[in-house]
Amino acid sequence: MTQLRLAIVGAGPAGIYAADILLKAERKFNVAIDLFEQLPAPYGLVRYGVAPDHPRIKGIINALRDVLDRGDIRVFGNVRFGEDITLDDLKRHYHAVIFSTGAVRDTTLDLPGIDAEGSYGAADFVSWFDGHPDVPREWPLEAESVAVLGNGNVALDVARMLARHADDLLPTEIPANVYDGLKASKVTDVHVFGRRGPAQVKFTPLELRELGELHDVDTVVYDEDFDYDQASLDAIASNKQVMVIDRVLQSWRQRPGANGVGGEASRRLHLHFYAKPVEIVADDEGRVSAFRYERTRPDGQGGVVGTGEIREIAIQAMYRAIGYFGSPLPGVPFDERHGVIPNHEGQILRAGSNDVVPGAYTTGWIKRGPVGLIGHTKSDAMETVRHLINDQGSWWQPEDPSEAAIPALLAERGVRYTDLDGWHNLDQHELALGEAEGRVRIKVVERDEMVRVSRAE
Ligand code: NAP
Repeated sequence: MTQLRLAIVGAGPAGIYAADILLKAERKFNVAIDLFEQLPAPYGLVRYGVAPDHPRIKGIINALRDVLDRGDIRVFGNVRFGEDITLDDLKRHYHAVIFSTGAVRDTTLDLPGIDAEGSYGAADFVSWFDGHPDVPREWPLEAESVAVLGNGNVALDVARMLARHADDLLPTEIPANVYDGLKASKVTDVHVFGRRGPAQVKFTPLELRELGELHDVDTVVYDEDFDYDQASLDAIASNKQVMVIDRVLQSWRQRPGANGVGGEASRRLHLHFYAKPVEIVADDEGRVSAFRYERTRPDGQGGVVGTGEIREIAIQAMYRAIGYFGSPLPGVPFDERHGVIPNHEGQILRAGSNDVVPGAYTTGWIKRGPVGLIGHTKSDAMETVRHLINDQGSWWQPEDPSEAAIPALLAERGVRYTDLDGWHNLDQHELALGEAEGRVRIKVVERDEMVRVSRAE
């Protein structure tokens, strides 16, 4: 039977789904998969991107864990591709590689004042509240009024986490430093700005509805944003999701607090539409002091045009949640414009050409860009795996495909890698920390501690 030794770089949902699909689909090959991950723990975006108060989505980890626990995939965590292991190493020991490293950076925004103190990328804040080991432990939460830019689900995650009272997050898995940080937050008003209208948002109904259920937080919408054009009315009539979103927002127009009048909660979460960013205004010390935006109006085709009316709102912090962006990997082609690995249905292409790079594949957000829900990654992985199987004739010819080669190489390089048993150790440890305090889990945040607990050192 032909042997296929495959390396997958990135142990988030994309990489794990690809491994699962290949192992389930392929009976002609003797498949052996090694999954490399730069963090000491697997599950990527589910562990470090999904908000802690979304246990249903966090629950995807259970399905991913079942895949890993089946026993036919080896995990090498705390291994940085390009440093601890290189593309040349992979060619020496595997027949092919799939890169599934996702998109973890914030898209840049060319806006005056974007570098002011108090202007943040959503991705960094999400990493903080999800206890990512590579971001600082402290997050400044002195602002009373905060703006969140964007109308996607990440914007709603950020707005919700900022507006929520810290004690309401206690049952979740938030790390201790995150609870302490949020508990000390001075926030009273969170303003979410979308540049288009309510019928053109990217967020989903469930996530919107959730905002209206937060304890001691009023959701505030403004009548001026509901003067729909024909394109918006058509979208509401033809798209169930848009219809539900409209229904939810319309119901909020009737609530106390609407239009900034009435409402008794100690915090408010405002949704502003038709607001195109113009400038983040900084004070003399370079700190965010206001957000300047242009009022837009619908252009009749789902887009907007500026009205020339400039407005300003006092804020002390700004979070841009306008999309994620992929990062280049050493030795791997990269499309700088779109932040993805150039590819044809998952086959990696040489930069600027249509030539396929033999043996090299990609899946997930680093393949198609940061759009879509976690489940969409499955069909993405199927497409990639289909090519991988069909391309058998152009796989690499490894010098040493033995199982022992990689652990030996990593040990020789002094890499303190973690494996699946190590993940089980860390998982148990975190659950036990949580149990002691009546919580589901308390995440270990420090990389060194994650590694120490995993390796039982
Ligand atoms: P997204 O859905 O693409 O939303 C990006 C938002 O940013 C859009 O409203 C977009 O407006 C706006 N935007 C882009 N450039 C802008 C600019 N220059 N000025 C002002 N606004 C700008 O991206 P995302 O929120 O990062 O989410 C990524 C993916 O993860 C999505 O598929 C999302 O559903 C998913 N996700 C899901 C969940 C969940 O299920 N709970 C949670 C988080 C993320 P335009 O539409 O006008 O371009």
